[in-house]
Amino acid sequence: MLLALLPLAPACAAQPLRIGVLAFLGSEAAVEEWSPVLRRLQASLPGHTPALVHLDHDGLRLAASQGELDFIITNPGHYVELEAELGASRILTLDAGGGRSPERALGSAVIVPADSPLHSLAELRGKRLAIVGREGFGGFQMLWGELDALGLSPERHLAALHEVGFPMSGVVAALDAGLADAGVLRSCLLENRADWQERFRVLSPRNEPGFACASSTPLYPDWPLAALRHTSPELSRMVAIALLGMRTERDGLAWAVPADYQAVHELFRRLEIGPYAYLRAPTLMALAERYWPWVAGFALLLLGWIIYTVRVEHLVQRRTAELRHALAEREALTQHMHAAQEQAEHLSRLSVLGELSGTLAHELNQPLAAIANYANSLVRRADNQRLTEAAVREAGGEIAGQAERAAGILGQIRVFARKRAASRERQPVRDVVDETVALFRGMLAHAPEVRIADELPADACTEFDRLQIQQVILNLLKNAWDASHGLPVARQRILLTLDTDADSLHIRVRDYGVGIDAATRNRLFEAFFTTKADGMGLGLSICRGIAEAHGGRLSADIPDDGPGAIFVLTLPQAKRYIQSTAKPTDA
Ligand code: ADP
Repeated sequence: MLLALLPLAPACAAQPLRIGVLAFLGSEAAVEEWSPVLRRLQASLPGHTPALVHLDHDGLRLAASQGELDFIITNPGHYVELEAELGASRILTLDAGGGRSPERALGSAVIVPADSPLHSLAELRGKRLAIVGREGFGGFQMLWGELDALGLSPERHLAALHEVGFPMSGVVAALDAGLADAGVLRSCLLENRADWQERFRVLSPRNEPGFACASSTPLYPDWPLAALRHTSPELSRMVAIALLGMRTERDGLAWAVPADYQAVHELFRRLEIGPYAYLRAPTLMALAERYWPWVAGFALLLLGWIIYTVRVEHLVQRRTAELRHALAEREALTQHMHAAQEQAEHLSRLSVLGELSGTLAHELNQPLAAIANYANSLVRRADNQRLTEAAVREAGGEIAGQAERAAGILGQIRVFARKRAASRERQPVRDVVDETVALFRGMLAHAPEVRIADELPADACTEFDRLQIQQVILNLLKNAWDASHGLPVARQRILLTLDTDADSLHIRVRDYGVGIDAATRNRLFEAFFTTKADGMGLGLSICRGIAEAHGGRLSADIPDDGPGAIFVLTLPQAKRYIQSTAKPTDA
């Protein structure tokens, strides 16, 4: 058995040697391109079984990170990324030969159809660009560096980035199909395809000494072959020695010692991609720079809003001050008006008194004459020695009675004439009517007959200012007397009716005097309207004001059952009273 196994021993001992290759032209092209490497390794490392694995960007990264590869051959940009991510370390750089230095071997060509109006990279603004993918180094990142130097951002300034994916020939297909205005190829691809060369030309071609192909970008080092972190240094050394022995003329390609990839690092740092993507973390300043039109717009809006708010606040304050001032003025005016009203009422009371007091002297004369009579009779009885205790008691009683009567009249007049502020309280209506009639009678020597027809319920109360209502009733009585005192006695009577309805209480003053003609009726309540020679014409207008201030009214009517006039003072009833009269049958 051991003998049988012997021939297999070298095969079993052969170590796998896996090389991941980035297939940028598609895996078939990659097989063709890298097969000399495979052959060389197979020939040089008999103890190993070299294999090429063709992968795209992500596939290569994944396989490398999972330890499935020992070496990678990829573009310089991808290499710089994997160097930072996975610790890949270049051991060789492709040497394309033909006078090209491995340090300056790769560029990108932006191609446009031969009849395109575009000529320079700067004209790409607003155009559609076909690329392999954003991760492509020769296919995009090198050109991105140039656009960036021209102040063009692929995202913002190009109309569209059309990603065609591998293989790179997709870029040409996109241009043919009219899907893009320009496309990006790795330089020298165009020169290798005669049919493409006829139909396309390169934008902003640069003059790179020693570089035969047209390039729109500066040149970067060629593809590296890199060992991965777990690859043994011994294997790396063997592979490096084997591949360095390749010759372009003999093997189709050759390798050189590892080139300096600093230029790629610088490009990536500038573009803030790959290992330098962390630079992209947006700082406040960078954001402000990038979005300055928005920031400026927002700042303007904010400024506008602040100005608007300040202005509105200012206007509100000014208007509030104006309003406060106007209110204060109105308040002062109202107070002034109240004072004037009180003054007018006072004057009106004095005027009624004045008119009635012509007869007051006569009225006071009666008790004074009676007092004098009784006093004289006492003196006479004393002279005649006939002064008895009973006579003194009788005369003294009469004198006191007459004096009280006179004092009573004067007291009422004093109260009535007093100047004071209005004050309302709930009180019986009948009382104030009686009091006023007494005052009226007391002031007139030949007072007319005043009859009171009281149809009020027993507890008829309401809220009013006693003096003001007294003033109204007295004014109505005086007017009734004025209208009738020259007429036959039968017409010199006054009927005072007190009654109620659902929510009001009425005091009606009816006379049988000269009555009111139509013209007078319209103007009765006008201030200063009078038909009397000595009248002021203020009485009724002030009385109506008093009635309205109590929430009531004062109106005039022409009676239909005879001559004269009726004046009706209506006062609103107090709530309790309304409730008690609502169900009269309950009582
Ligand atoms: P004055 O009594 O000073 O004239 P009033 O305002 O009290 O002022 O009355 C205005 C006018 O209304 C009177 O001049 C009179 O023509 C008329 N008037 C008032 N009451 C009566 C009444 N009972 N009968 C007829 N006319 C009246």
